[in-house]
Amino acid sequence: MIIYNQSNIQTSNSLDIFYQKLKQLFKVAPEVNIHISTSEKEFNDLLNEQNPPLWKIGFTKGKTVVVLSENLIQLRRPNYTNDDFEKLLKHELVHVFMHESFGKCPKWFDEGLACLLAKQTNKPINVEINPKTLITNEDFNKDPEAYSKSKKLVKEFLEGVLNEIK
Ligand SMILES: [Zn+2]
Repeated sequence: MIIYNQSNIQTSNSLDIFYQKLKQLFKVAPEVNIHISTSEKEFNDLLNEQNPPLWKIGFTKGKTVVVLSENLIQLRRPNYTNDDFEKLLKHELVHVFMHESFGKCPKWFDEGLACLLAKQTNKPINVEINPKTLITNEDFNKDPEAYSKSKKLVKEFLEGVLNEIK
């Protein structure tokens, strides 16, 4: 079940369907709170950071998903669409399910699976990636391609496993 702090959110229906898919996949059914922040200050306070990097527009804290409102994100990214916003919520929702079902896992797996399941578009990566360089928050802060690399790693890993067991 998803509980919103704003009732006028347009993405709720497709997000509910996505929630049901995740429930089947991860075999858990966390009660998720989605908090859409209409103030940067409130967002930063919840994140517990004074000056977070501008690319940070959402995060999860336990079973709570906190994102900046679509309007606030559009001030930073003029081409940001409602579809992007929906994918952001899906991405964060995947994190809640992963933490609930798996506990802690390497950041590349956590982020890669979230990007993959939310069907987010990432930059194509054509270099060999070492998963050991994508474990911690620090690794991610210093590599602007960390998300794209993680998505590629997870996709190749899952495809490799499926290929191996078929
Ligand atoms: Zn994430």
